[in-house]
Amino acid sequence: MVNKIAAGEIIIAPANALKEMLENAIDAGATNIQVTVKDGGMKLLQVTDNGCGIMKDDLPILCHRFTTSKIRKFEDLSSISTYGFRGEALASISHIAHLSVVTKTKDSQCAWKCLYAQGVITPQNPGEKAEPRPTAGKDGTLIIVENLFYNFPSRLKSLKLPNEEYMRILDVVNKYAIHTEKVGFTAKKLGESHNAVTIRDTQSIKDRIRAVYGSSVANNLLEISDSEGDPESGLLGLKGQISNLNYNGNKKKSHVIFFINNRLVDCEPLKKALTSIFAIYLPKGSKPFIYFSLAIKPENLDVNVHPTKKEVRFLHEDEIITFVCHKVQNELGDIDDLREFKTERLAPRSSDLTRSEISFEKADRPPKRQKINLSQSLSSSFSLGSQQPRLDYKNVRVDGFQTKITNFMKQSQKRNSLTEESFDESIQSSPRKGDTTENTSLAIDDSREDGVFTYVPKERTVVSLESIVGLRKKVESNVNKDLTQVFLNFVLVGIVQYLSRLLTIQSDVSLFLVDYGKLFFNLFYQIGLSDFANFGTINLKSPVSISGSISHVQDQVMEIANMSEKTKKEAIAELSDKAEMLEEYFSITLDVSDPEDPKVTGLPLLIKNHIPTLKKLPVFIYKLVFDVDYLDETSCLDAVLRHVANLYVPDSEPSFDSIENGSETEEMEMYKKSVEFLLSVVRRRFLATDDLITSLVEIANLPSLYRCFERC
Ligand code: ADP
Ligand code: MG
Repeated sequence: MVNKIAAGEIIIAPANALKEMLENAIDAGATNIQVTVKDGGMKLLQVTDNGCGIMKDDLPILCHRFTTSKIRKFEDLSSISTYGFRGEALASISHIAHLSVVTKTKDSQCAWKCLYAQGVITPQNPGEKAEPRPTAGKDGTLIIVENLFYNFPSRLKSLKLPNEEYMRILDVVNKYAIHTEKVGFTAKKLGESHNAVTIRDTQSIKDRIRAVYGSSVANNLLEISDSEGDPESGLLGLKGQISNLNYNGNKKKSHVIFFINNRLVDCEPLKKALTSIFAIYLPKGSKPFIYFSLAIKPENLDVNVHPTKKEVRFLHEDEIITFVCHKVQNELGDIDDLREFKTERLAPRSSDLTRSEISFEKADRPPKRQKINLSQSLSSSFSLGSQQPRLDYKNVRVDGFQTKITNFMKQSQKRNSLTEESFDESIQSSPRKGDTTENTSLAIDDSREDGVFTYVPKERTVVSLESIVGLRKKVESNVNKDLTQVFLNFVLVGIVQYLSRLLTIQSDVSLFLVDYGKLFFNLFYQIGLSDFANFGTINLKSPVSISGSISHVQDQVMEIANMSEKTKKEAIAELSDKAEMLEEYFSITLDVSDPEDPKVTGLPLLIKNHIPTLKKLPVFIYKLVFDVDYLDETSCLDAVLRHVANLYVPDSEPSFDSIENGSETEEMEMYKKSVEFLLSVVRRRFLATDDLITSLVEIANLPSLYRCFERC
């Protein structure tokens, strides 16, 4: 029974079973794979391959759980589960369908046939022995799955119409066909003579894409490839094919295909990041084609987030997504001969300007200048990131100003990347002295190569907690598109006010005043939600006493000072009871060896290269103790996430005193850099929600400024 339920979780539709069968055939080194389907796969799913076959001796245990021949390929046992070789697929299928296997290895004289039920080999006719039977057959393996979910009526009922299930199957075959070079694929319905999918083993990736998605997609592709990747974040290489700027787009749906370590996966954060880049480039409503194959260090990967292994999670998700996005932006932005075309494309289709007016403006300028102007207008319309195609009159008329903005922007981009590096260096070289508080002497363990903090990698774990899923949904449903657009591409103009944490940014043609305290709080809350249970740990060199922190806060804030010792003790004990949960979910580690005086030893690492304001630690600890309702799951997790986010928000009272006299001290420089660094993270991954509306004011925009000038 347990096996059956487990099986039903892994295989929820025929396409899931088929995906597993395809992967097995590919792993077996097949160069030709044929798929045959009846009734959307519910009656029959059959995969024939010409791979290495299965040895006769292995057949009796083939469908035992955890039977996998793929272990020996990996020295490290831990990478097995991360790769998703769990030896579960065939076992699962045998619990919920009639499974037969015909297989022949090269060395075998004949092929062998077996039937399986409930994980074990069964007799082919009543009274016969349960063992493989010799039969005629070619080298390779034929796997036949019949009557899927025959013993699982509820699952059967939840399936779509056979034709829809068939389309899902074809979709999986198509995607594997695009990705798996040197392997030919066919797929068809049983009894039909023509194939719904035909890919020859010799076809190139582009031709495969053409065969599946048509010429309009295939003729407008940009190839991206990088065999080095970004080893520091565990990305070992990538290749991809993406729509170029000529692509007219698919109005109905985007095709986004990700393979990670040769497994077809979903990766929502990456998808979101990439499609938002295309939203800037493609005409409104057009959807791109995106195919990416990433190689990620297996130990950084957790494909078991979801039983069907579809949604995948990996460490350093942020860095890797940023890396891929940069590649895409470079490709899309750097194509010189497409620039002119692109600028044309950016002209409004329903503009009130006529073509001749536009060309008049262009013809008016010397050719050299025109070229510069075009690329400038392109890069600014890209970098300033308006989802709307940029209006030409804005390009032309605000030209003088724009040059400045563009220059500034380039500089600031350069500065930004420098900033990130030098920021790294600066944290590494000097632990932030200013962050120690009176009664808690804090320093972060700098024993490791990473410098200031100890980064403790953690295997990505499943987060299926309804509470977290619910909190994530809540954020998603509150996303404000226009506002998110503002934060997708902007330039920092400057920090206006430290005490109330205000800064100005320019996004597209508008200047905004932003409460960055609130902005970063939201950012960290979102990071907390999305990386929940998967944070690294910042190990504190000297553990911080919980009781001491509380006293410290009480000293500062009079009203709460007269709390009785007893409640304090109880509350601390309550927190100590939660140590395991805090560590598992939040990487907040406690040392409870002295029950009288438990200590905080580690904090969650939300972003690499950024350490929280440790000055806030006592307040954070105080809030963990007194401001979390540990009895209600959702509100508990939410509250801890909020406290963590607050801990990470830059201090509202920077520890430098020289602000008034205007001299920029080292700490001040550092503070600014960390704000700039966080802004770069905002640019990469931030969904602005409605509640942020009040934290942002538009103080000027260029068209209206221009109108002012015009009147002068
Ligand atoms: P896993 O793929 O995780 O190892 P499966 O249950 O999918 O587990 O398959 C179990 C084992 O059966 C594989 O490890 C492999 O040895 C063998 N196998 C399955 N399908 C094929 C195939 N088409 N060709 C060769 N061997 C296969
Ligand atoms: Mg498998």
